[in-house]
Amino acid sequence: VIELKSPTEVQEMRPVGAFVASVLTALKEKAAVGVNLLELDALAHKMIRDAGATSCYIDYHPSFGASPFGKVLCTSVNDAVLHGLPFDYVLQDGDLISVDFAAELNGWVADSALSVVVGTPRPEDLRVIEATEVALKAGIEAAVVGNKIGDISWAIGEVAHQYGYLVNTDFGGHGVGRTMHGDPHIANDGRAGRGLKLKPGLVIAIEPWFLISTDEIYTDPDGWTLRSADKSRGAHSEHTIAVTPKGPLILTARD
Ligand code: MG
Repeated sequence: VIELKSPTEVQEMRPVGAFVASVLTALKEKAAVGVNLLELDALAHKMIRDAGATSCYIDYHPSFGASPFGKVLCTSVNDAVLHGLPFDYVLQDGDLISVDFAAELNGWVADSALSVVVGTPRPEDLRVIEATEVALKAGIEAAVVGNKIGDISWAIGEVAHQYGYLVNTDFGGHGVGRTMHGDPHIANDGRAGRGLKLKPGLVIAIEPWFLISTDEIYTDPDGWTLRSADKSRGAHSEHTIAVTPKGPLILTARD
């Protein structure tokens, strides 16, 4: 089921979008060599409490999950790229960390992610981060009334191919609204002109993620964290956006 939001409802989603953006900004500032992943989770948890928001992750228990997630943040480091379960780990010089955060405020959800290197970066890590950011921008620019879902997928995939990365289409973008995950699925590669027509009021998370030298992933023994099959590093960039008559509105835009 694809739910479209009224213009009023899209406006009602702005506060949660701004809140999620503020948490990611704070996490980006906090992430540094010597910081524990559990400290990042604690910071996000405190911001949730202070805002009167609700975590979308802490009780999350889908069929593939070993048990409820138990944390409010995904922290994926180096060869981990998605769904990283925060654990007792201190960030080291040159680590590439992706943080993914979703929360609910006033009955609406927003979802966003970013990747950053702490300490001295490897050029290839900065390159894969850049690729996901460029792909996210391209995907958002394709999210206009009259286009189709496939146009977003194609735009993202084109950037990946230009950078020489493979694309895994198992995990991608999704509808967002009263809950974190809804229809439609938005693969990070695909054929232009295919799929659902984009209409005003469609609110979706667009989330390109690429690995440097593979498109294969496996699940860590923790039951959640997804790691690259060849140990290469990956990056992830995500925004929640609304399709509007005036063009895409980035609800989770950071200053
Ligand atoms: Mg997310």
